[in-house]
Amino acid sequence: MKKVLLSLIVIIFISSIYAENKEKPKKLPRVEVHKINDQFTKFTVFWSGYFVNALAFDGPDGLVLVDTGIADTGKELKKKILKLYKKSPKYIINTHEHVDHTGANNVFGMAPIIISHKTMRKTMVEDFILSEYGSDSLPDMCFENELVLHLNGEEIILKSFTGSHTESDIIVHFKNAKIIATGDLVYKKAFPSFSAYAGDVFKYGEIVSKLAKYCPKDVILINGHTSDSNYNDLIDYKNMLIETLAITKKTFNNKEGMEYLKNKGIIEKWKKWEKEGYVRANSWFKDNLDVLKNTGPKKIIITRYLYNALKKKGIKGFFSEYEKYKNSPDVKKYDMTYFEFGGFGDYFERKKDFQAAEKIYLYGLKEYPKEKYAYFYLIKFYMNQNKNKLALKYAKKMLIIAPENKWVKRKLKELKNMK
Ligand SMILES: [Zn+2]
Repeated sequence: MKKVLLSLIVIIFISSIYAENKEKPKKLPRVEVHKINDQFTKFTVFWSGYFVNALAFDGPDGLVLVDTGIADTGKELKKKILKLYKKSPKYIINTHEHVDHTGANNVFGMAPIIISHKTMRKTMVEDFILSEYGSDSLPDMCFENELVLHLNGEEIILKSFTGSHTESDIIVHFKNAKIIATGDLVYKKAFPSFSAYAGDVFKYGEIVSKLAKYCPKDVILINGHTSDSNYNDLIDYKNMLIETLAITKKTFNNKEGMEYLKNKGIIEKWKKWEKEGYVRANSWFKDNLDVLKNTGPKKIIITRYLYNALKKKGIKGFFSEYEKYKNSPDVKKYDMTYFEFGGFGDYFERKKDFQAAEKIYLYGLKEYPKEKYAYFYLIKFYMNQNKNKLALKYAKKMLIIAPENKWVKRKLKELKNMK
């Protein structure tokens, strides 16, 4: 359940962090078309300075599309595909469950056959409850280890490499073309993105080694969030993962922490891996150390209980359910964070029930007045509603609790200019 919030929040985090590093994001959303050869085209989907790649493969058996990007750019992607190919995809293959890869599965309607790892469908149905996926988004055909498609003169091997990024990662190998779509398993000159909830970051080394053994030496890897890699890039990336994860474990075992890594110049040494991605060397080590620290019993996630209460008794039910957990003598057993409010607020925004969204965001802020994301969600919400005075009010408050935050500084400037 955490996953739904997480994948959503991860994207918002990433885009806000990413945007902090860019001067001004270009006009959004947008989709870039990169023709690889007669049969293959890469579509790069941009959102707040952050991008995802989708790969199209065409021929007489029909158009195959690997990943669909985020929901916001779905219509734009569809337009570009229809213009280029004069047809919709017949097959959609998803590399894994995250919303930045599956978000526009539904823009082509019910017709395409959606193919994925079996865990992806399970996760989308059972865990991503706030997304409420319809059958136009969900996979029609699932497999566990390997599936081979013979289409357009190609042998397309879908092979499972689960366990590091998520439990549903696959690669899509076009054997004759020597092209592999890697989803979020491979990054070029970047640390991978990961979460403490899905997959296991410490398995990245092992999984990518397995992938490297599988890959032909003359392969082109089309990666989810960076430029393409070749075989040597993959080996560099694999070695980086093995070395940095081993350093992290050793640091943890010696009871040393981030200070040690900083003082020894270790963080500095790995900074060259910040080149293409959005995970900084500092957070790669820090977050991985945190994963090792947090080995206690897993806390109970309350998202589903809140969701059920909401479905039964409306928004009042949601709040009373929340209060029930908050005031419970077992409160320490529950995973209580601001992101329940962020996630549910966003859920109502997507449903265009802006009153409910506002109520939830304001409640969340009341509960977590020191959480910068409580302000972040409200500011974004009010700006989308063209309520700039209110957005300005909360931006000023956010600056007090997060005086170094570049995002809020930029928003403040923007909002003051709007007056
Ligand atoms: Zn992902």
